[in-house]
Amino acid sequence: MLPVITLIGRPNVGKSTLFNRLTRTRDALVADFPGLTRDRQYGIGRVGPGPYIIVDTGGIGTAAEGVEALMERQVQRAIEEADHLLFLVDAKDGATPEDIEIVQRLRRLGKPIALVVNKSDTTDPNLAVADFHGLGLGDPWAISASQGLGVNKLIEHVFGQL
Ligand code: GDP
Ligand code: MG
Repeated sequence: MLPVITLIGRPNVGKSTLFNRLTRTRDALVADFPGLTRDRQYGIGRVGPGPYIIVDTGGIGTAAEGVEALMERQVQRAIEEADHLLFLVDAKDGATPEDIEIVQRLRRLGKPIALVVNKSDTTDPNLAVADFHGLGLGDPWAISASQGLGVNKLIEHVFGQL
């Protein structure tokens, strides 16, 4: 069985962009508006050590529904079958109240989680990362899914935790 790595995070943080980067496909829809990934999407990870299964999650509607949607069956199942979670946040936004709520739920699962600060190309990566230490998930990993920065190192780290 290949290890299963699952992407979690509120809408628009770049989960599908990272999925496409890791699978070297355009299978996941990427949009400027949230909620486009309706369901779980599976792919074979080809970046970094591997191979592995990568799972994109979605089905999350408006921001207000985001945390509730985490409990939705599809996302819940995706989380259950994961060997490792990548929790994505947006460097531009800082840690939002929704991020904090999602972290509280994820932590209870007792699964390995990496905190991934995406879109670090849009701001000073050091500043971006500093704001996210408070989430209590350890050192954040600054990446740019769209530019491919930090992605290899992140997957190497994940494999070290499996
Ligand atoms: P999802 O809803 O979490 O799946 O997010 P998407 O992958 O659909 O991305 C949402 C928006 O963020 C799109 O406009 C992407 O092009 C943009 N985006 C994703 N990753 C990056 C990144 O690393 N840097 C920048 N600047 N934009 C990004
Ligand atoms: Mg998506």
